[in-house]
Amino acid sequence: MPLEVLQRAAFDMTNWHDADGKPSGMGVMEMSHRGKAFGSIVQHAQACLRRLLAIPEAFHILFMQGGGQAQNALVPMNLCGPAPGRPAVDFVITGSWSQKSWQEAAKYSQPHIAASAQASEFHHIPELASWQLSPGARYVHICSNETIHGVEFHTLPDLRALGSDAPLVVDFSSHVASRPVDWSRVGLAFAGAQKNLGPAGLTLVVVRDDLLGTALEICPSAFNLQNIAASDSLFNTPPTYGIYMAGLVFDWLEQQGGMDAIEARNIEKATLLYQAIDGSDLYFNPVEPACRSRMNVPFFLRNPALESAFLQGAEQAGLLQLKGHKSVGGLRASLYNAMPLAGVQALVAFMRSFERTRA
Ligand code: PMP
Repeated sequence: MPLEVLQRAAFDMTNWHDADGKPSGMGVMEMSHRGKAFGSIVQHAQACLRRLLAIPEAFHILFMQGGGQAQNALVPMNLCGPAPGRPAVDFVITGSWSQKSWQEAAKYSQPHIAASAQASEFHHIPELASWQLSPGARYVHICSNETIHGVEFHTLPDLRALGSDAPLVVDFSSHVASRPVDWSRVGLAFAGAQKNLGPAGLTLVVVRDDLLGTALEICPSAFNLQNIAASDSLFNTPPTYGIYMAGLVFDWLEQQGGMDAIEARNIEKATLLYQAIDGSDLYFNPVEPACRSRMNVPFFLRNPALESAFLQGAEQAGLLQLKGHKSVGGLRASLYNAMPLAGVQALVAFMRSFERTRA
């Protein structure tokens, strides 16, 4: 979280101030979600995100609960009806998160793997031309940033190049709002808020209007995207505090210069770290350079026995949460939007000094 956002939230904690600086006499957690004050908070968050990500009017911005993994069920539940049956859906497997989405979809559809990078241990993205799409598939799912394997689609695939008009479903949980989005290629995109948007508990769904109204009968009403769109995210009580915080993050992103400026900064941060890794004899990153993630950088020590000394030294230097995900091991630096360039510079300086002392 950006420090300025946390400070603003602290200021508003017991007495929220509106856009004109007028105090409301209560904190956001104490407000009715149907009241005027909260209404202005949710509208502000939506309008600001629409501006920031240049989301066309044909798309609804929905604030939900359940996180990214709930969407693995809710997307097929919402896009594979209304008639019962199990329509085909396509998946491109580029790491753990797209794999999980594919597994969950089998409860509601017939998921088919159109392409997979498993053979390379998820170190590349299969060429678009090699994707084997199923005729009539309801949608094609990708995870545009694989948080664990550190693989990112630097541009979203254009399915029209394969002669397909299936909607593209994008799990952009771990790099949402880190760069502009080409919405002409997207049908639905979802993200848990907890990486780049705000506190855990809020889920963002951006869905094209023509994809509403195709939910399975069994889809819970509170998770039916059509209901949520029709009620402007107030079908049931939404995660009010998370929406408020996300609104503050969106303000902060606009103050930073918007998506082009944020993307440029993220490229600068990631380039600095990858150059340090590639230029060393001790560290390595196995992902093909063309699809390396700018948000999540997994890296490994050529001598894994040094890992705990690395982590201990890093912690002493104030560099925290660098242990890799348990499923792949090694180390991982997450460079979300709120991480300043100075944080990456400090990490690189520590990595170099650690390498010198261990040479
Ligand atoms: N997708 C991606 C890309 C993720 O990184 C995560 C969480 N790290 C999830 C889905 C799952 O999100 P949640 O924990 O909110 O269910």
